[in-house]
Amino acid sequence: MASANEQSVEQTTGVFTESFTESTIARIVGIGCEFHRRGWALGTSGNFSAVIARNPLRLAITSSGLDKGALAPEQILTVDEQGAVIDGQGRPSDETKLHLAVVRRRDAGAVLHTHSVWSTILSEMHAERGGFEIAGYEMLKGLSGVRTHRHRERLPVLANSQDMTALAAEVETTLDAYPEAHGFLLAGHGLYTWGRDLDEARRHVEILEFLLEVVGRTTAGVRKS
Ligand SMILES: [Zn+2]
Repeated sequence: MASANEQSVEQTTGVFTESFTESTIARIVGIGCEFHRRGWALGTSGNFSAVIARNPLRLAITSSGLDKGALAPEQILTVDEQGAVIDGQGRPSDETKLHLAVVRRRDAGAVLHTHSVWSTILSEMHAERGGFEIAGYEMLKGLSGVRTHRHRERLPVLANSQDMTALAAEVETTLDAYPEAHGFLLAGHGLYTWGRDLDEARRHVEILEFLLEVVGRTTAGVRKS
């Protein structure tokens, strides 16, 4: 696996090597196993992607219907900017359009989507208001660019849909409306977050899932047994 330094050099220059693609795919597989173990992507839920080339855009993404606890490198597909498969066997996730929308709007290097218990509960609770704020927690400082616990993180909530073309358009509108947001929720469904690379996106999942659990346990009237 390339070091973080090697990866950032490749990303800065736009030259993506085969070793970068291989290490990216290995990292996606590792993230799938970890997120499954931590209860954030149980069964076939969730999907994970990373940019492996910018021009033209190429995205490595988990293929559809796979157990995220048992991913293998050959189950990671390469898709183009339209979501068409250009390398690998299998069907890309239905949510590939949402990943591409985030990459376009945030210039993200990686997009991670989880289906945790707390994101499911809180997204339902706050769906009608279109979102909610998380503020006052030290863990907010784990989000890129956040320097103080006084930060107010607005998490937009979008209505869930199986029409991915319409939902992708709504994701783009929402990301434009909330340029500071580090993630968004789909109601009754789960969390999307991203980063400049997989390490940052993974950290954002860990931070946001922690914060969602804190907010959930303190506002949803649920206590750990
Ligand atoms: Zn999903």
